[in-house]
Amino acid sequence: METQSIIYGDERIGFTVRFLPRPQRCVAIHVMPDGAVCVDAPEHSELTQVIAAVRQRARWIWSQLEAQRKRHLHVLPREYVSGETHLYLGRRHILKVHLDEQVPSRVRMWRGRLDVTTRSREPVAVRRLLEDWYRIRAQEVFAQVLASFAKHTAESKSAPPWRLLAMRTQWGSCSPKGELLLNPYLVKAPRACIEYVVAHELCHLIEHNHSPRFYQHLSAMLPDWQARKDELDGMAEWLLNR
Ligand SMILES: [Zn+2]
Repeated sequence: METQSIIYGDERIGFTVRFLPRPQRCVAIHVMPDGAVCVDAPEHSELTQVIAAVRQRARWIWSQLEAQRKRHLHVLPREYVSGETHLYLGRRHILKVHLDEQVPSRVRMWRGRLDVTTRSREPVAVRRLLEDWYRIRAQEVFAQVLASFAKHTAESKSAPPWRLLAMRTQWGSCSPKGELLLNPYLVKAPRACIEYVVAHELCHLIEHNHSPRFYQHLSAMLPDWQARKDELDGMAEWLLNR
């Protein structure tokens, strides 16, 4: 095992080299989940050649490390203290926690801030207040979005029955009886992404599967649904991190 490094931009990227006896013709580079860079090379290759091969792929390695750093940033556990950012409709809001034992607890959105007035600074207390606030906002925003699709849904022109349900891995679902379930944390996403999830579930009222017909309905309703889905997928881990 050899420890080496290369410089890329203004960053030193360290990596370990393993020389492997089994027949393999080229250098294989792996970026591990903890950010370690491991390079496997054929047993009799020259170290200078290995380093040259790593240098050639420096841009790729750097982009992998950068993506990992971003992921870590996103999934840091929330502390529910002043200065932390929380999303609402895709926009960052700075959390401000005010301790006041004399007035009722409340959350107010004000000039890009989420002002929480609370009787206790305990993270669990602040978190509960925020979660209640997100649910109230979700109820209102999702109702608006459903109403905006009313012309696409059934003859009744009224929105189908729906309710909020916090889910770990899903944004929405549609029961066989035709009730829509929407994840309240979806309200942290941009409205365009919320519309995608709602349109997707509304299409399940017509097609209870992901058949080509389902996607025909979805494309008719929301021609750019794929771009909206990609945006949502890209931020999912962050949005679901409580
Ligand atoms: Zn589906």
